[in-house]
Amino acid sequence: MNRAIVILCKFNNQYELFLQALYGYCVIKFGRELNLSALHTIEMVEKLPFGSDGRMIDEHTIHISSRLYETLPVFEIAELHENKNFQTLTRTLFHELCHINERSIMLQMHNDYSWAFYYFFTPKSIHKYSYGQTL
Ligand SMILES: [Zn+2]
Repeated sequence: MNRAIVILCKFNNQYELFLQALYGYCVIKFGRELNLSALHTIEMVEKLPFGSDGRMIDEHTIHISSRLYETLPVFEIAELHENKNFQTLTRTLFHELCHINERSIMLQMHNDYSWAFYYFFTPKSIHKYSYGQTL
């Protein structure tokens, strides 16, 4: 949480501030264990393909649809706990944060296993030759 993450909405300042607050809320309440070190940008967009509410673009970027934000009666998290749309958009943001987390784990796994594959399955002669350069 120390590292700056850009959270923006280019067309509505209120949504932007709310999304920033919601991110803090999600991370503190549900996401302390998540690895979000690769995350750089959360951007609100007016529409996402297939009517979805959130989407991981890559391990650095999440897009969130403004669809449910348009229905909120207030922009105060404390007053919205009973609101179904608030619950859905919170789940959506958290869901996308989980994708960022998974992606980081997968990349780590990919790197670890590439190394293991290389180490254990490359013939010793080649191994000896290129070990230092490739790793
Ligand atoms: Zn998903």
